[in-house]
Amino acid sequence: MRPEVSLHILRKSYCLDGLREELRGNSMLEITVAIGFTVGIIAIARGRGASPWLAGVLAVLGFVCMRMLPSLLVRTPDSAMLASVFGSWAWLLILAGFYRFRVGAGRPQPKGIWVCPNCTYTNKAYALACRACKQPWKPADVG
Ligand SMILES: [Zn+2]
Repeated sequence: MRPEVSLHILRKSYCLDGLREELRGNSMLEITVAIGFTVGIIAIARGRGASPWLAGVLAVLGFVCMRMLPSLLVRTPDSAMLASVFGSWAWLLILAGFYRFRVGAGRPQPKGIWVCPNCTYTNKAYALACRACKQPWKPADVG
């Protein structure tokens, strides 16, 4: 093997090792952010009248599956690792978008944050029912 070729391979594997180390070092931060995302998805699902349990299970299972699957299907471990990182985050974003914009889309939507007339709890714009007392949001304030 010519020296520059072996040097190139050496440098390439070093880069991938560095990337792998970096991802490993960030895993605690990543898990924290992923938990934050999951909590957000559960809150959105509850606000949209969907099952918060199902949303939580879907978020966690999907995230873990996306992490595990590519390493089983793709032969090269480095591209599999990248695919799993992007895939798992894409899953959480798609799930959040699905609950925010698909679930309950046929019902009248609040224009922004709204105060519940029943219990005065301030709800987020995505909430179709009051988070505190479960009273559904109504288009016109009937007092
Ligand atoms: Zn309320």
